[in-house]
Amino acid sequence: MDRLQLPRNMIENSMFEEEPDVVDLAKEPCLHPLEPDEVEYEPRGSRLLVRGLGEHEMDEDEEDYESSAKLLGMSFMNRSSGLRNSVTGYRQSPDGVCSVPSVRTIVVCAFVIMVAVSVIMVIYLLPRCTFTKEGCHKMSLPMGLIQPVATNGKVFPWAQARLPTAVMPVRYELNLHPNLTSMTFRGSVLISVQVLKATWNIILHSKGHNISRVTLRSAVSSQEQQVEILEYPSRQQVAVVARQALLEGHNYTLKIEYSANISRSFYGFYGFTYTDESKEKKYFAATQFEPLAARSAFPCFDEPGLKATFIIRIIRDEQHTALSNMPKKSSVLMEEGLVQDEFFESVKMSTYLVAFIVGEMKNLSQDVNGTLVSIYARPEKIGQVQHALETAVKLLEFFQNYFEIQFPYKKLDLVAIPDFQAGAMENWGLLTFQEATVLYDSNTSSVANARLLTKVIAHELAHQWFGNLVTMKWWNDLWLNEGFATFLEFFALEKIFGELSTYEDFLDALFKTMKKDSLNSSRPISSSVQSSEQIEGMFDSLSYFKGASLLLMLKTYLSEDVFQHAIILYLHNHSYASIQSDDLWDSFNEVTNQTLDVKKIMKTWTLQKGLPLVTVQRKGKELFVQQEKFLLNIKPEIQPSDISHLWHIPLSYITGGRNNSKYPLVSLLDKKSGVINLTEEVPWVKVNTNMNGYYIVHYADEDWEALIKQLKIDPFVLSDKDRANLINNIFELAGVGKVPLQRAFDLIDYLGNETHTAPITEALFQTELIFNLLEKQGHMELASRLVTRVFKLLQNHIKQQTWTDEGTPSMRELRSLLLEFACNHNLENCTTAAMKLFDDWMASNGTHSIPIDVMTTVFKVGAKTEKGWSFLLSKYFTIDSEAKKNKILEALASSDDVRKLYWLMKSCLEGDTIRAQKLSLVIKTVGRRFPGHLLAWDFVKEKWNRLVQKFLLGSYIMQNIVAGSTHLFSTKTHLSEVQAFFENQSEATFRLRYVQEALEVIQLNIQWMEKNLKTLSSWL
Ligand SMILES: [Zn+2]
Repeated sequence: MDRLQLPRNMIENSMFEEEPDVVDLAKEPCLHPLEPDEVEYEPRGSRLLVRGLGEHEMDEDEEDYESSAKLLGMSFMNRSSGLRNSVTGYRQSPDGVCSVPSVRTIVVCAFVIMVAVSVIMVIYLLPRCTFTKEGCHKMSLPMGLIQPVATNGKVFPWAQARLPTAVMPVRYELNLHPNLTSMTFRGSVLISVQVLKATWNIILHSKGHNISRVTLRSAVSSQEQQVEILEYPSRQQVAVVARQALLEGHNYTLKIEYSANISRSFYGFYGFTYTDESKEKKYFAATQFEPLAARSAFPCFDEPGLKATFIIRIIRDEQHTALSNMPKKSSVLMEEGLVQDEFFESVKMSTYLVAFIVGEMKNLSQDVNGTLVSIYARPEKIGQVQHALETAVKLLEFFQNYFEIQFPYKKLDLVAIPDFQAGAMENWGLLTFQEATVLYDSNTSSVANARLLTKVIAHELAHQWFGNLVTMKWWNDLWLNEGFATFLEFFALEKIFGELSTYEDFLDALFKTMKKDSLNSSRPISSSVQSSEQIEGMFDSLSYFKGASLLLMLKTYLSEDVFQHAIILYLHNHSYASIQSDDLWDSFNEVTNQTLDVKKIMKTWTLQKGLPLVTVQRKGKELFVQQEKFLLNIKPEIQPSDISHLWHIPLSYITGGRNNSKYPLVSLLDKKSGVINLTEEVPWVKVNTNMNGYYIVHYADEDWEALIKQLKIDPFVLSDKDRANLINNIFELAGVGKVPLQRAFDLIDYLGNETHTAPITEALFQTELIFNLLEKQGHMELASRLVTRVFKLLQNHIKQQTWTDEGTPSMRELRSLLLEFACNHNLENCTTAAMKLFDDWMASNGTHSIPIDVMTTVFKVGAKTEKGWSFLLSKYFTIDSEAKKNKILEALASSDDVRKLYWLMKSCLEGDTIRAQKLSLVIKTVGRRFPGHLLAWDFVKEKWNRLVQKFLLGSYIMQNIVAGSTHLFSTKTHLSEVQAFFENQSEATFRLRYVQEALEVIQLNIQWMEKNLKTLSSWL
């Protein structure tokens, strides 16, 4: 094999196969400039083009190429300010050739332009549909234009975002020496690799490393050779260039020595300080690698499908504890009070699951069948970990039994990290959590806190099997991880923590997810992704809750036993491997013995976006059903022209009369329409029993009337899930004009008799949304009529509430909800009662106890006064309980004083006094209420660059911040304002799904007001 030819061929092959570069070059401009090490993604084509041209002058052909491109209307080079500056920098040389053109120059220029135009016409118009393997949808670009160039000017031998498959990692040995005061670390990584196809290069990921030395050794030779490494930062890739060809079937060991900064964001290997109770400054470092940040801690093959084993060694100060995925193997005392900890070799796992933590911690532990479960927290918080430990032990036992697979490690640590952005992370054997999520203090933690703690631990434990043991090959199937973990979280809680009634939270989240999925900006849960921001964007409620809901629908349809068998089979078949959606469906088909094609059914749900609207009409004993796509946007131009959407829907239903509710009936609707035989005439029918299916149901007029009548006579023949489901569906349908809004209000007229939390939660959610829209547009009188109407329905419930913590978790949740509603709208002396509790509390300097479930409401009322707000703020800085801190913060963010709100958001972003991880909660709270709703958006605009730097453009927190600050806008002015803001950022930003979603939500609000305002004011 020729050493010179091999890389060249690889470039050529990859050029032809390349997709994203080409698309990006033609369509996506550069981002606004960021610091190089902050660049998480970028339109690669643009950067490539600049680099390809070299860092000096453009030559004449290239310059003319650009002119020709402009002539052809290809303005891509101009769209980004960053790129434009660099290009005009070249062009505006004072003695530029074409500035005062001579005749000769004009002739030459014209000739060159003609040639260039012809070449470009040929290149651009002819071959892209003809010469690519897959036709027009894969655009190709002439090779010469994109040629990745490494930082040292040499050709970089790989031109794709995904790594080549020629070399596979087998084992990593990672040595780290972090210095938490200087925020730097030194590291070395030994990677044993196996060569599957002969090559000269090893391509892997690395981000922000100062690589000092790279050596390569063949398994059969003891000689280590120093080799060259090429860096290509825009893709976060490096290429190790071997001196001899690496031979197929052989193993090699690659050693990379490097140093880097410890990150100050929440990604990668990041560090921060906090002050402990004796006001001493403490240093802490932790990791958050999912999805793409392992590469910033150590050079690695950072794709979920490329699993390997890991040996990790960390040098730490004596007073610190170091933790990693595996149990500790040894600790060796070194000079200057340093200790090196070595951890046992891990099982095969993905890089995003690797984790390590260094800091002062204490722990509480308990053994579960040979696995030591520990909760770690900083020493002063160790009193708040007992509840988490008991919960984790129960859940671990449950999952081991349910999956019939033991947890593979001897230990399982759950760590409360003082500063952590995500709620939690499932690193194998080393789960990490926000303190507020996992610490529990029975004096200040509410039912909502208990629910959250239990759910999150269940979710992360479920991941130890779904995600860690069996992993998706690529991020397009992230829903396999998150959908399963979310489904199992609620499933496990229903089985062993039934008293928490967490299905109420699930329904609430599901309704919101369905709303999101009914937008044009939605996506199939299995969607192809390439860029970092696309990958980050997958961590949205669709992956989690739509995924979970589809699994719930399947479980209900197949029966619990069949479902469990199939997932046990799937886990056994694919342990330690990487899979795609099809592998899951194959396991189901194996269990159903092909009597039912689960794959065919489920593909209609995972590969198309949106959800079906099932319309039903009863005629005698027959139920006529038909399906169509449910879209919130009713503007005709946005309706898809393609009306062929078809889902295979397991339709379940219950009817009034003899067989009501006992035996949910199911029938598969796999055509546009069908007829179900009800066997007898019944007074009413309710489709989608217990909301176990992912679809919306619309009934014929008389069927709605029958259901409304039944709710008024006796609501309890339907389950609370069914009642919440009816409320949700009728309000969503009213929003698009399928049902008059008045009928939706007719339906909730029964609420005076409602005893359960889920239906009241949904009714309050829907009506508060309407209230918020009316209020923000200044329709105060109409808004207060709306509140009066809802209050009349809930009056008796509100009167019955006591300011205590008595009752079941569900009743206590309802109390929080109702008193919050009452105090929010100044109803039924609520604020007087709350203010009294607050005054007592303040008079006792915060020692007097407040019932936990009404604590947020009491604080919010107290925060309305100058004195109360300042007192709360002082308490925020001194109290220990994270649960209480969150309640105080929400109250502070509910102030009517915009100066205070601004100060709060600013302090949060700075992150010194209030942790930056709280910012999305603060912005959401500020944006919801009248005094702050314009301010929140102004703040987001003003601080946009800082926000993106801190949280990363595609992250979940940015999704929340944008939604939280814009979702109540309902005027055309705001629509164009928000649109213009994002358009001005960059086209890539503008195209982000959450930006498109924010714009669509504003459009929908406008549409809602246009449609309903008039009628609402006439009858409300
Ligand atoms: Zn998860």
